[in-house]
Formats: sequence, C-alpha cells, structure tokens
Amino acid sequence: MTGGPAPVLDIRQVTKVYGEGETVVHALRGVTLSVDPGDYVAIMGASGSGKSTLMNIIGCLDVPSSGRYLLDGTDVGALDDVRLAIVRNRKLGFVFQSFNLIPRMSALANVELPLAYGGVKPAERRSRALAALDRVGLADRVGHQPNELSGGQQQRVAVARALVTAPTLLLADEPTGALDSKSSEDIMTIFDRLSVSGRTIVVITHEEEVASHAKRVIRLLDGQIIEDARMSPVSGLPPRFAEVAL
Ligand code: ADP
Ligand code: MG
Repeated sequence: MTGGPAPVLDIRQVTKVYGEGETVVHALRGVTLSVDPGDYVAIMGASGSGKSTLMNIIGCLDVPSSGRYLLDGTDVGALDDVRLAIVRNRKLGFVFQSFNLIPRMSALANVELPLAYGGVKPAERRSRALAALDRVGLADRVGHQPNELSGGQQQRVAVARALVTAPTLLLADEPTGALDSKSSEDIMTIFDRLSVSGRTIVVITHEEEVASHAKRVIRLLDGQIIEDARMSPVSGLPPRFAEVAL
C-alpha cells in the first residue's frame, strides 16, 4: 500500500530516439513524470523540444525507445497494437489543433463514433452524444456538418467527442492553435469546468495564456523536463481566477 490514488500517468525515464548514425535525434532524454487523477497539466516548450513526441507516447500513438509508461496502471509497453487501440479508446480522449472531425458527417455522428468503436448500442450512443454536445453548448447544432460550423464550434464538437467515452485522461495538443482569441477562451473555459468537475487533463501548448489555466506547468527543453511547477491554489479556483476571486 502506498496510500493515495494510483497515478493516471506514470512515466519513468522515457527516451525516444529517431533515426540512427549521423542523423540520430534524441527527442526525449529520460522524461520522468507522474500525473494524479484530477490534475490539470500544461506541457510547454519551444518548437523541437519534444512536446509532440511526448504527446504521442502519452496517447499510445507511439512507443518509447526505452523507459516505462503506465497508463492508469496498465504497462502500455507490453501491449500489442490491438490492445493498444482498445486502451486508447477506453482511457483517452484526444483533442487536436486541427479538430480532425469527419467531413460530411453531422456533429452528432462525429461524437457518436468513439462509442460505436467501443461497441455501445445505438440508442445509448445517441443519448450520450447529445448530452456531450449539450455540455459544450452545442445542443442546437447537433445536425450540422463540420463545414457548417465555425472553427470554435468544430473544436467544441471535438471536445464532446473526446469526452463522450468518459476517458481517464483528456489529452489536448495545441487545442487553441487554430482558433481566434474569443473561441480559444471558450475552449479553455470548457477545460476549466471539466477540471473543476474532476477530469484529468493534459494540454500541450506553447501559449502562456493557455498554460495559465492549468494547475501545473511542465516545461521541456531539448527533450528534458527543466521545470515542473504547481500553481499556488490561493482559493482552490484555477490559478487565473484566483486574483479575481479575492
Ligand atoms: P515539438 O512538438 O516540441 O516541436 P517534436 O516532438 O515534434 O517537438 O520533435 C522533437 C525533436 O525530434 C525535433 O528535433 C524533431 O525534429 C525530431 N523529430 C520529431 N519527429 C521525428 C521523426 N518522425 N523522425 C525524426 N525526427 C523527428
Ligand atoms: Mg509539436
């Protein structure tokens, strides 16, 4: 017994090497990181620092060259591709910079998709997808296709799609990178609400404004963590609200 909850992410001495010989790139040089349930983490760093590489490993889209990665207690290094896909579907919700919605499918159908892959029956799929779209403020747009929605609305559909499976971890890679400032604020407000309701969130960003919403900020430089700072919980509210609340 260790006391305390098992971490959602338990990453130990993970390295990632691309290529070999003269073209070898050490993208991650021994990253150790633990994220507990309910935490809200921003991973920051300049271009080339290893953010996407780390995101791909956390998201089970790629495997480390060495080191160990436990996701919600499962050693993902020991899984074959089929089992990895199952873990991704059950435990992870992804939000990407470019929304990645399926064109010519309604918002509702897009949000139902991960439930279909997960084997959920049609009626339950529909009701859960409608509830997820309602939570992101799109109850009146469920029949719209992506090209009939603004960028901000498309990203809210993507957030609903990421959440509909009730994943252990919400993983977002530059979620506001393609949005104007108002739509960015809308997305980060949704993330803040999700955090307050207990969701575990990891967001990769190079924007300080986005990171200012998180409870904890991790900075990467040349494939290593150079800073891991917990924002002071002045009032129990997300840090950026603290000064307003007082
Ligand atoms: P970031 O997302 O912070 O910009 P990346 O994780 O994309 O950083 O890249 C980290 C380093 O690894 C960079 O030097 C990049 O050029 C290199 N890299 C990333 N992906 C590959 C790849 N598939 N093959 C070779 N090198 C790569
Ligand atoms: Mg990147």
